[in-house]
Amino acid sequence: MTAEQTTATWLDPAAIAATLAEAGREDKGRIREILAKAALLGGLDATDVAVLSQVRDPDLVAELFHTAERAKTEIYGQRIVLFAPLYFSNICTNECVYCAFRRSNRDLVRKILTLEEIAAEAAALIDQGHKRVLLIGGEAFPKDGFRYILDAISTIYGVKRERGEIRRINVNLAPLSTDEFRLLKGAGIGTYQLFQETYDRELYGRVHVDGRKADFDWRATAIDRAMNAGIDDVGLGVLFGLGDWRFEMLALMQHISHLEDVFGVGCHTISVPRMEPAVGSEMASHPPHPVSDDDFKKIVAVLRLAVPYTGLIMSTRETAEMRRATFALGVSQISGGSRTNPGGYATPEDEDAAQFERGDHRDLDAVVRDIAEGGRIPSFCTACYRMGRTGHDFMDLARPGLIREMCGPNGLSSFAEYLLDYGSEETRAAGDRAIDAEIASMEPRIRRYSETMVAKVRAGKRDVFR
Ligand code: SAM
Ligand code: SF4
Repeated sequence: MTAEQTTATWLDPAAIAATLAEAGREDKGRIREILAKAALLGGLDATDVAVLSQVRDPDLVAELFHTAERAKTEIYGQRIVLFAPLYFSNICTNECVYCAFRRSNRDLVRKILTLEEIAAEAAALIDQGHKRVLLIGGEAFPKDGFRYILDAISTIYGVKRERGEIRRINVNLAPLSTDEFRLLKGAGIGTYQLFQETYDRELYGRVHVDGRKADFDWRATAIDRAMNAGIDDVGLGVLFGLGDWRFEMLALMQHISHLEDVFGVGCHTISVPRMEPAVGSEMASHPPHPVSDDDFKKIVAVLRLAVPYTGLIMSTRETAEMRRATFALGVSQISGGSRTNPGGYATPEDEDAAQFERGDHRDLDAVVRDIAEGGRIPSFCTACYRMGRTGHDFMDLARPGLIREMCGPNGLSSFAEYLLDYGSEETRAAGDRAIDAEIASMEPRIRRYSETMVAKVRAGKRDVFR
């Protein structure tokens, strides 16, 4: 265990400014050298990230995207992991000016789910075919306090339906104390996610005006507490649109380097939320530093190359078109069929309680079909987490490229299971075609056990993984 960190001493804005200045203007030769280095899949340093963030020339942008696409395919194959957010509450004691859930917003219908309602949400998600949920909500718990979250987790794991169950619960929760993180770990969570929103202290202070979240350092040191408590799969993120994205990317790199230095492993995932309109928030419709679609794609491509083995998550904030474009550039996980209002799956008509406007309104079946029609493999696999392959163990597996050996076949068998148990006729046809094409493209050894695993599922066996 490392000593408790109470200040984000690793964050060095002056160094970020110097790196950005040193990266200077677009230099074709230097950019191509960095892309050649990135193609070796060993990751990039902060200066490389700063240089790639300056790319504007259309030919160089195309080279950046091409390199990212090759890295994505080399490491992840065609898999896209699917999950659904489960909002337990939209009540919050904080005042984040961009969020509909903030305490002073009177334009929102408030709701905190009972454990029975959480079970109903889990059942509705299982019946759509989901196996992974992200438990998420405002920073306020009912009278049982933090115990409520632990009870919510065991409630969700306890819901068994005829055709399935939730096999992995990730959480996106306000920062906790080390003791609370220990309890969270004990409850069997997968990844603990927390977005810093912005690493710019001054801006952070202006947009988080009240409540516990106003304390920048309490948030910026939360991942240290989580890791000290034994949670080794952690997810970072920035709310793009708040601060200058080039600054945020370098700050994110500093955060990751700090985790690698102290804990020997960086983050398991990075999320790339972009600010969306939200009920009762003027700022959400007019972000201080809007990120264009072109820059957003660059962010995904540069992150893919900077931390090639870290999952990149995109939510339903983005449109179907943007999600499709970024699969190729590096996104490895997406939410599907999502609702951002508590109770939204069991009672879908109640949208007045939502956190932000969704860009993608399609149901899970349509999202899955679209992915398969694009020649990719929607994956519902949760094997690593259940086999204890987390943190260092996952990275040991990932670095030499074994991820494709394990995750490729596991993705296929979990997709075959989804198609048989939940897929519409049209989706099943598209999915079977994608499975056949993926198997045909595999090297003989991996192909053999992929075929065996898919055949087992088609013969009636469930939860087949290695
Ligand atoms: N309340 C906890 C917190 O703030 O960390 C966890 C849940 S909060 C609902 C999850 C994330 O939603 C926040 O970290 C923020 O990045 C994102 N968010 C808030 N308002 C948003 C908006 N208008 N558009 C897109 N994302 C938003
Ligand atoms: Fe509350 Fe999180 Fe929304 Fe801030 S972002 S108001 S903490 S739910």
